[in-house]
Amino acid sequence: MREGVTLYDTTLRDGAQTQGVDFSVEDKRIIAEALDRIGVHYIEGGWPGANPTDDAFFADPPALKRARFTAFGMTKRSGRSAANDPGLAALLSSRAPALCLVGKSWDYQVDVALGIPRSENLDNISESIAAAARAREVLFDAEHFFDGYRANADYAFSAIKAAQDAGASWIVLCDTNGGTLPEDVYRIVSEVKLRLPNARLGVHAHNDTEQAVAVSLAALRGGARQIQGTLNGLGERCGNANLCSILATLMLKDDYASRFDTGVTADALKQLTPVSRLLDEILNRAPNRHAAYVGPSAFAHKGGLHVSAVQKDPATYEHVPPESVGNRRHILVSDQAGRSAIMARLAALGIEVQSSDKRIARLLEDVKSREFLGYAYDGAEASFELLARRALGQVPSYFTVESFRVMVERRHNALGNLVTISEAVVKVNAGGETFHNVATGNGPVNALDHALRKDLGRYSSYLQDLRLVDYKVRILTGGTEAVTRVMIESADAAGNRWSTVGVSENIMDASFEALSDSICFKLYRDGAPS
Ligand SMILES: [Zn+2]
Repeated sequence: MREGVTLYDTTLRDGAQTQGVDFSVEDKRIIAEALDRIGVHYIEGGWPGANPTDDAFFADPPALKRARFTAFGMTKRSGRSAANDPGLAALLSSRAPALCLVGKSWDYQVDVALGIPRSENLDNISESIAAAARAREVLFDAEHFFDGYRANADYAFSAIKAAQDAGASWIVLCDTNGGTLPEDVYRIVSEVKLRLPNARLGVHAHNDTEQAVAVSLAALRGGARQIQGTLNGLGERCGNANLCSILATLMLKDDYASRFDTGVTADALKQLTPVSRLLDEILNRAPNRHAAYVGPSAFAHKGGLHVSAVQKDPATYEHVPPESVGNRRHILVSDQAGRSAIMARLAALGIEVQSSDKRIARLLEDVKSREFLGYAYDGAEASFELLARRALGQVPSYFTVESFRVMVERRHNALGNLVTISEAVVKVNAGGETFHNVATGNGPVNALDHALRKDLGRYSSYLQDLRLVDYKVRILTGGTEAVTRVMIESADAAGNRWSTVGVSENIMDASFEALSDSICFKLYRDGAPS
């Protein structure tokens, strides 16, 4: 008999409090629907009454199939009745079927932050929960519970007891400052479970010692049955508990999978990586390469020995199959790699060729000498694929650039403001025609990109939805001269992403090389005619 574990996502509320995160109503809808497809139980949409975005989001809530849409807010303030508290009123007027109310459980916070008698804080908790529970399901977030329990266990306990008695459906124990260690969390949750056996306990952990996932699992072992967290661990300071890592661990590790049931299907778990990347896409961030389970490097193999073993049986260097979380295996090519890595990599790309083929030896030499010059094919898989396919004569020459010129001019405009303007001129041959393209941009690389793609004749239609999503520059000091390496990440409307690389002593040359590779890769992948 497995016990149920309830998953509560707070990406749209706690995650939204992160520096540099500013979700639109539409962003919130897309994320909520994606979380619903995975099968989490509660989706906290935000804090109605706190800002216009959340008001709009709650006025027109997303259509969720399974998850309970939840509104977050505070227990009432002192000196007002629950019926007259504007915060509670905003919460109750939202259409969310569940409400989560946060209240203080650490005596020190009551004394210092609220400055009210401790008994009054308890009254505020019970009156707020009781008023809300008459209308909806109410969860209670016990803020700073673990710190409060260490300081004054009886007071912390009386806060959650008040919420439980008033009708809270879940008592969520929060490690608000994120500093509590897993062993303490396990001990405290176990004690609370003994003292309040009928309560349904949850945990809300922050990642300030990088153990929020471990803390959440410790709470589960101690008796908590709800885990709160965010996609990719998004959250202020060091982040919240990472729901991606927690869900994958609960489902793929026997110790948990044999005891607990998340209700998420094995098929839905395959959405984990796409949903993790979707959040990055919305935030316009590159994915964390080394994120557990879902990171692009989570199943990447580089060393020659590892690669040949993984070829024989992936379990030699993989703790779970990448497909189980919707991720995939990457065989990296590097100067450490031998022929087996190149062959594995070509096989992964669907390229069939004999390893005895002379062109493979030449490709290997080419990769090694280019990496010596500063090319990095680990992070530029599209450039590697082009290099390999060109070596095998599979990539047509779509266009050739005869010349390009880039100008950057800083001057006063007609309004007397100082402006910097970039303009690029590219002379390019494509499909037997010659084009002179001129374009401006918000910087020299942007202008060069616009000019290169402005008119490529028969190929232009293939490039409509191509956009550059990341541009990275590194100065490498190797050999006798400093060289510049440019890595470009591109994306298209179908959600494909690919990375290309260029290396030169000149930053514009390096950028141009990476840009051309990006364009060629898209033309090749989309089957443009030669
Ligand atoms: Zn929090």
